[in-house]
Amino acid sequence: MTPIPRSVSIFGATGSIGESTFDLLMRAGGPDAFRTVALTGARNVARLAEMARALRAEVAVTADPACLPALRDALAGSGVEAAAGEAALIEAADRPADWVMSAIVGFAGLAPGLAALRHGRTLALANKESLVTAGPLLMETAKAHGARILPVDSEHSAVFQALAGEEIAAVERIIITASGGAFRDWPLERLAGATVAQASTHPNWAMGQRITIDSASMFNKALEVIETREYFGVPPEMIEVLVHPESLVHAMVGFRDGALMAHLGAPDMRHAIGYALNWPERGHLPVARLDLAQIGRLSFAAPDPARYPALTLAREVMAIRGLAGAVFNAAKEAALDGFIAGQIPFPAMAGVVEEVLARMSAQTGLGIATISLDNLQGADREARGLAGAVIASARM
Ligand code: NAD
Ligand code: MG
Repeated sequence: MTPIPRSVSIFGATGSIGESTFDLLMRAGGPDAFRTVALTGARNVARLAEMARALRAEVAVTADPACLPALRDALAGSGVEAAAGEAALIEAADRPADWVMSAIVGFAGLAPGLAALRHGRTLALANKESLVTAGPLLMETAKAHGARILPVDSEHSAVFQALAGEEIAAVERIIITASGGAFRDWPLERLAGATVAQASTHPNWAMGQRITIDSASMFNKALEVIETREYFGVPPEMIEVLVHPESLVHAMVGFRDGALMAHLGAPDMRHAIGYALNWPERGHLPVARLDLAQIGRLSFAAPDPARYPALTLAREVMAIRGLAGAVFNAAKEAALDGFIAGQIPFPAMAGVVEEVLARMSAQTGLGIATISLDNLQGADREARGLAGAVIASARM
């Protein structure tokens, strides 16, 4: 394949999505095919520097200022600039690049993504938290600056592909699939004893630890339902979740004539990333080809609300809107931290999020119409604090 020569940046280069993006760029010719502007990471500065050297990036940024000396050392003699901290991340997003991968995990990914959109860049969006917390702000910013957002969640890329050439008005429903996660077949009463290691094993996908645990609890799918609502602008009642243990059908779009368009592919994020990289064309991608005769059968089931309470919470968030997505995401992140730290059992995560949502919606009226980076950050901080208090009281 001859890649379109252009300039790229990767935010969250050292993570799972970042590594897959790097892999595709290197296979497509690396520095001979793309001009790499910025690569960013957190504390793994050795890997960040290695990637920056390989792609001959303009600048490498670590989110952690304490890591700057180590990054400088690792980049010595390479000609790559080193920078650190939140302001440096924004400065990196301000640098001209045609295509920007947003693959920082969590709320921290929002500000650099918004900065890139304000410059009219094409934003390949893996950071689903951006849409969940600030969907209207993100979509409006893109529109106001002529920027484009391309979805890089496998389900949303699948929906986007199934919608190519179609009118959104002809869509009746959007179905996103879920593997059911590590505990799909566990008896419910065993979930309280689930360990972090057990929750960190995904049946089909190799991903970062946090999103893997979020798959077991279906908080990941809950975020993705909200993401679908925000990105495609469809009402919540049009969005369905289907348990599909094989993880081969990623999403389906149902049209008003009864047709159901399904997107199938190997569970490999390089497909969704590569689709966004080559869009609007299709490039050759190094993903496995499905042998459906060998696979034989695909199975589907409705998700059990008792096993996956996160899905019900997503419906509440979509009903409230406003800052509810930010509260939901922050409480979920804090609850996940609590589970990983051994402070709360696996099933208690949903209870923590529910409690924080209930308390904050009673206090402040979360559904206010306009959201800004400021009030989002405020809601994020407050929800984390409250979740911490709920977790602490649960431990006594
Ligand atoms: P990861 O944890 O593997 O990597 C996250 C990246 O963000 C790393 O480069 C890390 O250094 C950086 N980072 C972490 N905290 C940071 C902070 N506070 N400030 C700046 N940078 C920080 O995560 P991942 O699995 O690659 O996921 C990245 C995003 O993509 C998430 O939003 C996730 O939900 C989404 N996503 C991931 C997958 C997947 O298969 N891994 C699939 C769909 C969507
Ligand atoms: Mg997904």
